[in-house]
Amino acid sequence: MEMFNLEDLPGVGPAIARKLEEAGYSDLMAIAVASPSELAEVADIGEGTAAKIIQAAREKADVGGFETGDVLLEKLEGRKHLTTGSKAFDELLGGGFETQAITELFGEFGSGKTQIAHQLCVNVQMAEDEGGLDGEAVFIDTENTFRPERILQMAEGMGMDGKEALKKIHVATAFNSNHQMMLVDKAMELARERPVRLLVVDSLTGHFRAEYVGRGALAERQQKLNKHMHSLLKFARLYNAVICVTNQVAARPDVFFGDPTQPIGGHIVGHTAMFRIYLRKSKGGKRIARLIDSPHLPEGEIVFMVKEEGIRD
Ligand code: ADP
Ligand code: MG
Repeated sequence: MEMFNLEDLPGVGPAIARKLEEAGYSDLMAIAVASPSELAEVADIGEGTAAKIIQAAREKADVGGFETGDVLLEKLEGRKHLTTGSKAFDELLGGGFETQAITELFGEFGSGKTQIAHQLCVNVQMAEDEGGLDGEAVFIDTENTFRPERILQMAEGMGMDGKEALKKIHVATAFNSNHQMMLVDKAMELARERPVRLLVVDSLTGHFRAEYVGRGALAERQQKLNKHMHSLLKFARLYNAVICVTNQVAARPDVFFGDPTQPIGGHIVGHTAMFRIYLRKSKGGKRIARLIDSPHLPEGEIVFMVKEEGIRD
């Protein structure tokens, strides 16, 4: 366990720390397993304060206890999670963006899809114990949204060397939907030589939407999109990688979710992607992420921020 000072706990000053120490509560684990009433008594504090101290100690001590079967299964399968930079966002996703799966970010223009994609390109490079995957990123850019300057900011926000971070992000521009699909094959070739653990497609649906217009084209479009999604999933499984795709939609989630006339890609994308996150803007620069239709996580909503240094709580 890391070095720990009692005064690192919220509400614990020198006087309380001394009382705790004298009563034998000198390490995190002792406090983490204490009851609020006993702690309140020995430190001469209120039970509310004691409960907060215990909670903080539990978080720091990472008191596990039992593990559920799915967590064990995940471990067996080597599935990993990539941090978003926001604790709340990570928790919404059961620890972050999951490997061996496709996560779809959808929302209207400016909702933060591309920002999150950039952040993942930085975070994937971090060590596993920091929430990264010790890997490199592939960014398939269809609308010229990749911004190296933004990577520099976010990398520095993570205490990394921005220039070095850029060297581990492999960017390609897809000129049309066929090219976009071909670039996934190129990414597979690259992943044989480089430790690619993240593949971004921003946007997944833009070219398809533009090229396959009208009712007659719908079936073909969905078929191609389906094929594309399956090769992305193959990449995810082969390289234990995170796949992040974006999908721009109108600000009408009610239409998008249930209605058969839902916009581009809805059906196919929805069934192959394992995690779907609906993003929207809120007041004061806040953004809301909502998890939809996850096979093993509850639906939920969290608030996060897009800051100069990146995605944060
Ligand atoms: P989209 O969902 O269309 O991809 P973006 O991810 O491009 O949306 O989000 C764009 C928004 O991100 C901007 O409107 C701005 O609010 C925010 N943003 C972009 N760069 C910065 C920055 N350097 N600092 C703070 N916020 C930023
Ligand atoms: Mg974008």
